[in-house]
Amino acid sequence: MTGTTLGTSPYRSYVYAYPHKTAYRPLAGRPGGRPLLSDLWATERKDALSLYLHIPFCEVRCGFCNLFTRIGAPDELTTRYLDALDRQATAVRDALGDDAPVRFTSAAFGGGTPTFLTAGELERLCDIAEKRMGADLSAVPLSVETSPSTATADRLAVLADRGTTRVSIGVQSFVDAEARAAVRPQHRSEVEAALGRIREAGIPVLNIDLIYGIEGQTEDTWRTSLDAALAWSPEELYLYPLYVRPLTGLGRLGAAAQEAGGPDAAWDDQRLRLYRAGRDHLLAHGYEQVSMRMFRRADAPPTGPDDYACQTDGMIGLGCGARSYTSSLHYSFDYAVEMREIRGIIDGFTTTTDFSRAEVGRYVDGEEARRRHLLQSLLQAEGMRSAEYRERFGSDPYEDFPAELERFAARGWLADPADGGSPSAGSASGRSPAGGPAASGLLRLSPEGLAHSDALGPELFSPAVRAAMAAYEAK
Ligand code: SF4
Repeated sequence: MTGTTLGTSPYRSYVYAYPHKTAYRPLAGRPGGRPLLSDLWATERKDALSLYLHIPFCEVRCGFCNLFTRIGAPDELTTRYLDALDRQATAVRDALGDDAPVRFTSAAFGGGTPTFLTAGELERLCDIAEKRMGADLSAVPLSVETSPSTATADRLAVLADRGTTRVSIGVQSFVDAEARAAVRPQHRSEVEAALGRIREAGIPVLNIDLIYGIEGQTEDTWRTSLDAALAWSPEELYLYPLYVRPLTGLGRLGAAAQEAGGPDAAWDDQRLRLYRAGRDHLLAHGYEQVSMRMFRRADAPPTGPDDYACQTDGMIGLGCGARSYTSSLHYSFDYAVEMREIRGIIDGFTTTTDFSRAEVGRYVDGEEARRRHLLQSLLQAEGMRSAEYRERFGSDPYEDFPAELERFAARGWLADPADGGSPSAGSASGRSPAGGPAASGLLRLSPEGLAHSDALGPELFSPAVRAAMAAYEAK
């Protein structure tokens, strides 16, 4: 996901996957054309895969959202979509083959809003994951996204019954006026009722998403939302800075605002202030910080798979907005934000009969794999063990990324080694040679580094990925 503001804003881009989909290109234009999935997966390890099923439907389009999703689903579209998902799952499972063990260690239904589907359709979705793909949903962590109005008792009962271990609900704000300002009209009473239903369903982990940086939001109203969320003792909380992205509802409003005066150091200040207030509030209430956005209750049950490492293990994504990763290629279907384009892509997906090839993607070669590993580890509060990096790549991160790491250290974004972290600014060992302190140590962000994750992440993009993203025409 990307959202960009000007200059040295701490809020340049939310990097949750690298490379971003806007750096993907049609594979048909490459030598050899669209690769067969069976070839792509032939030599991959398949015994610790992650499964993701994408449901690209929502009841409303939130003003800040640039995810691949459409509003409503006319004419039995969800049925046709699930039919296509079933065909795709069958083709992908065939492509994985049976020569080596195929095992899924985690599963997730995302979107969009998976609970836009009816209870019966959710049963079918679970059947596709289990019967077509062979995922044992009752034995692995299963995470499902929902929204206040679709988190109904019948749907939650299906999800609980089929082994859901985590439900994540997008609340954004418990203050009705702020919900309206973020173009997500909802009433607090509906949100509270939905949270009650989720708790009654007995799903072990509840995650609540909140947003800061909404127009009119103050430290007091932010505290109101945080306390309202804390009243449910959620096992996880995600605090998202608001972004205004091209082609979203707020993006259109924002374009007008920019013409009238431009963005917006004051907005950056508001977001940083609210971030710090939110972080401190949660830390004071028994939560641990996992990343800039994610906080976990210290006594919460573990939610992730025991043996899946997102930096190294494979991902199978099904549905037209989902990504899949082998060790060398990231691929998906076409991508769009604008509603008419999304509709066209979903319609194309529902009539597809041949799912045997990868359509759109980007090869992640040696250097890109190093960047991805560093990026995705460094953006976690626990940081990256240099020894693991060395073991995987045979080199030291300080040798591979000296300029970037020196710059981060100079800005005070790297934790001090005295805290178990990496060398800090000005230290003689700030650029550790192979075998130096960083080689065996922990490379970790300081609190300021974590606060600036959305500025730091994009600085680790390769020039090639940067150029591809810049050349991508949003649609
Ligand atoms: S934020 Fe979530 S609920 Fe809102 S439009 Fe995007 S995917 Fe749908």
